Amino acid sequence: MGSLRINTVEKSRKHQGKCRGCGKVINKGDPYKWVKPRYGGRTIKCLDCNFRGSEMESNETLSSLYAGVESVEDRLSTTPSHEEIEEIRDELVSAIEEARDAFQEKADNLSEHFPDSEMVSDFEEKVQELDSWLDGINDVDVEFDEEELTENLETWTERVWGELQAKAGECPI
Ligand SMILES: [Zn+2]
Repeated sequence: MGSLRINTVEKSRKHQGKCRGCGKVINKGDPYKWVKPRYGGRTIKCLDCNFRGSEMESNETLSSLYAGVESVEDRLSTTPSHEEIEEIRDELVSAIEEARDAFQEKADNLSEHFPDSEMVSDFEEKVQELDSWLDGINDVDVEFDEEELTENLETWTERVWGELQAKAGECPI
């Protein structure tokens, strides 16, 4: 687990295609930067764009968790419709559950052979942290019920949107 190294190239020796961030074409002679996970290809960006957490993370489970959270944060960067809110919450929940299950599996597999390994407790700690994050997210009442609505629709949407946004930003690992 850790951060990938960012490599900077002052002058590209060939055409690099489009920047993964903004889509600007990186031509021969242009500067660019790149990261490369152990498995998988390079991600290339122009110097104006930053790498996101998911792109910088070398651990596959964490990287896909971060990617899931980033996608939810993107969807929450503008006010969603009240119909979308529950769907976005579910997307966040499944990204976290997937990571939790992956860490649980790692802990189980490892403890079969190395029950005293520090990594087992490290994985189990992550499972617990993700579980309490999930509890907090599941506490947000995203179910829209017109009949029980005590505030106007706009207020409801803004409030739940804000709560979800805050919870999405609380990744403990
Ligand atoms: Zn760019």
